[in-house]
Amino acid sequence: MDKLHQGSCLCGGVRFTTTAQPRGVVYCHCRQCRKQAGHFYAATNVADDQLELHGSENITWYAASDFARRGFCSRCGSLLFWKAHGQPDISVMAGLFDDPSDLAGACHIFVGQKGAYYEIDDGLPQFERSSPDIAVAQD
Ligand SMILES: [Zn+2]
Ligand SMILES: [Zn+2]
Repeated sequence: MDKLHQGSCLCGGVRFTTTAQPRGVVYCHCRQCRKQAGHFYAATNVADDQLELHGSENITWYAASDFARRGFCSRCGSLLFWKAHGQPDISVMAGLFDDPSDLAGACHIFVGQKGAYYEIDDGLPQFERSSPDIAVAQD
């Protein structure tokens, strides 16, 4: 049986499980992610039908753009998901996983919009905007 991955927001009001092997963690440095997160995003991604959600009544969805929405916990404010309209998968914040030992960094995107107050020096690939092989916003 595949390993079960579990995670939750800070207060536990939103929980999820997935048996999917999560995609490598993508660090997004775009302006929206930095505004919402206070720094940059670190998110993996799983197929919608492989994510079992509990407590979805505690999720507030913010329509950040006309192509995607951002979900966070209404009770504790934890960032949870990034969901592009019409896509069959969902980005899940890496920090939500109870045991993130299966997660590994993949690349940095939108580095052209990164904050001036930090450097990226982990050796992972960097993309000025989106990476060709991930479905993310155009801006
Ligand atoms: Zn919460
Ligand atoms: Zn972003």
